[in-house]
Amino acid sequence: MSNPRLEINLKGIASNTKILGDYYKTKGIIICAVTKVVCGSIEIANILVQSGIVLLADSKLANIKKMFLAGVKSKFLLIGTPMLSEANDIVKYADISLNSELEVIRRLSYFAIKRKTVHQIILMIELGDLREGILPKDVESMVKAILLLKGVNLVGLGTNLACFGGVVPTEGNMNELISITKYIEIRFDLNFTYISAGNSANYEWFSAAKEIEKINQLRIGESIFLGCEPLYRKPILKLNRNIFTLVAEVTEVKVKASVPYGEIAQNFFGHKPDFPEKGLMERVILGVGLQDVLISGLNPYKDFEILGGSSDHTIINTKGNKLKVGDEVKFNLNYPALLSAMTSPYIFKEFIQ
Ligand SMILES: *Cc1c(COP(=O)(O)O)cnc(C)c1O
Repeated sequence: MSNPRLEINLKGIASNTKILGDYYKTKGIIICAVTKVVCGSIEIANILVQSGIVLLADSKLANIKKMFLAGVKSKFLLIGTPMLSEANDIVKYADISLNSELEVIRRLSYFAIKRKTVHQIILMIELGDLREGILPKDVESMVKAILLLKGVNLVGLGTNLACFGGVVPTEGNMNELISITKYIEIRFDLNFTYISAGNSANYEWFSAAKEIEKINQLRIGESIFLGCEPLYRKPILKLNRNIFTLVAEVTEVKVKASVPYGEIAQNFFGHKPDFPEKGLMERVILGVGLQDVLISGLNPYKDFEILGGSSDHTIINTKGNKLKVGDEVKFNLNYPALLSAMTSPYIFKEFIQ
């Protein structure tokens, strides 16, 4: 087995997808699965589709292109704010995109007409998180402008919270999305296909909501892959929380001091490190480092303490647990650590059926 490696439990992904899909369907929401944290992995995309997903979403067009070319049987939604320079390829590979700039939508329209196709647009509305989206006061004039364009079809409105600003989806901001939707539909005689209200962070709002009216889509990544909601990282009942396991190999085991000795200057990170005196300890080096994974986002399955790391080494205090050279040490990963491990070409990906 190659190390370091990421073990990926495909059955767990299938099970989480079905449980969440069924749960959100109870009030009329069809989830789309967000593949950005798994870099548009073909093996994972196919499992998501087999588990009932009909729309895959990714923030990188490169991932959508990869899934499209591999023949993944799904429609594709681009959720990263589209670049003007990639408009031609967006129309080619994505069915739908989330948009907030008229100039970009005009370019999408231009290429869609050229390709004799129609590209679908979901217009994003800013509701406080301060990432992508137009201000509510500008929605009416923007919709009016989009409706004049050929080659693009305005299929919905959307919003995204809890990503940049950590803003919680609540009855208040969700009702604002609902009332903007109602106003625009009446004003322009439209009937939107999608009201796309957010991401995994909408879990608690959804669970508590009695009436979600026209909201019918959530874009779900973290809950499927990590089995939790992302506002307080509370586990969601029945979901598998150990789908991804990082495995690293022991390359050195020595009893050494707990505090470096000699004249101390900057370390790898550019700071002067400060270590508490804990006497002699068994220090183990693992063959995994920052070039492979965000070490600070790892959580060992056993009671080890991560002391730190550098490009290609991670140093742990075994706290009395015996390890020898060649042993494997396993870790759970948080979202940023998973993103880094999936992105790193140095981590071997092992799919477990
Ligand atoms: C990342 C992202 C999502 C998915 O977020 P999760 O917390 O992983 O569910 C949804 N929508 C947009 C616009 C995103 O960027």
